[in-house]
Amino acid sequence: MASAPDLFAGSQRLQMTESIELTVQSMQAYAHDHDHWGMAWSGGKDSSATVTLICWLIDTGRIPAPRSFTVFYADTRMELTPLAIAALQIMDEMRDRGIEVHVVRAPLDKRYFVYILGRGVPPPNNNTLRWCTRQIKIDPMGEAVARKLDEIERNHNGGPGLDGADGPKPFLMITGVRQGESAMRDRRIEMSCSKDGAECGQGWYQKTLPEAKGVRGRIATLAPLLHWRVCHVWEWLKHWAPQPQFGDWSTAMIADAYGGDEAEEINARTGCIGCPLAAKDMALDTILRNPAWAYLSPLKGLKPLYRELRLARNRLRQPGGERRQDGTLAKNQQRMGPLTFEARLMGLERVLSIQAEVNTAAVRLGRPRLDLLDAEEEARIRDLIAGKTWPDGWAGDEPTADTPLPAYFSDGTIQQLLV
Ligand code: SF4
Repeated sequence: MASAPDLFAGSQRLQMTESIELTVQSMQAYAHDHDHWGMAWSGGKDSSATVTLICWLIDTGRIPAPRSFTVFYADTRMELTPLAIAALQIMDEMRDRGIEVHVVRAPLDKRYFVYILGRGVPPPNNNTLRWCTRQIKIDPMGEAVARKLDEIERNHNGGPGLDGADGPKPFLMITGVRQGESAMRDRRIEMSCSKDGAECGQGWYQKTLPEAKGVRGRIATLAPLLHWRVCHVWEWLKHWAPQPQFGDWSTAMIADAYGGDEAEEINARTGCIGCPLAAKDMALDTILRNPAWAYLSPLKGLKPLYRELRLARNRLRQPGGERRQDGTLAKNQQRMGPLTFEARLMGLERVLSIQAEVNTAAVRLGRPRLDLLDAEEEARIRDLIAGKTWPDGWAGDEPTADTPLPAYFSDGTIQQLLV
């Protein structure tokens, strides 16, 4: 890969130093109010920059060390391979510093592929059917944080609450939400991660996590890189953090995976491999242009697979006349629903063959293997199919969605089929 141009001479470097200084000020302003800190880390660019920078600032005494600092790594099982490898290395580097790291995963039945191919719920495809972020990132994170809060309370004089009165002060949850300078100036603070350049999950951790069950009222959140420009994130990951004086972190692989500071890729959105909500596989395309990662190219088959699974022939449909609990007609008559068993088995075979193809090449080239679907997850998918599992509200005797049917409308009118 071409080496990154030195964007950081002169005034650019000054801006970077100012950005770090602003982060220090925001941490100092909050630090004394919170004895215990946590970090919701997705392994993407913004949260990786945040967590390594905060560790370095603590190590060097630029910000006061809290009584405890716990890092929660959100392992969705869908992370891009170079990012997953970098995360493993960075976790080791944190543990070497005595930082407590928790790997947070969804329960088996709620993991991405088990939910789609075992339970039959179609892949997410827009913001209304976006079950994935909450299920594979937010909910497991909420549960892990709640367990940690309970532990802190138990260890504090037998358990007063994290309410700042008699007990420990509220837990400070650090996130990698970043808006950049222009949005900060415009006061358009937007938590969406469907925009280019954002990291899926971080906005949700900032907004939704404080309201999660077991967490509500017990944490404060802080986004100390809110003002950082994306070029500063790349600069930190690629050129600063890997140097011994900034912590000697294994972050360069993250920047390289996204094309580093090459202008074209600078807004790469960070998220799952083949995310169905991203218009293009921009991050994966960038990775594949690097000859060292080109063997991952069968992963390009995931996005078309998700599209195919959503086709009418692969799903059931409500036949018409569906009613709500109060007896009135449902608004969305004849909605399309879950995946047929045939479609799920087709999807399972396709994912397994993508994985096998990548791993055959990995062995041949001596490169890291892909772990999209492990033996336990595959067995669970087959069990759920064999057990004829359907999502709630579906019996499995509904017609497939490509079956011609009279048209039902929510006002009760029915248009018979024209023969
Ligand atoms: S990156 Fe895409 S698939 Fe993954 S959780 Fe976010 S929206 Fe869902």
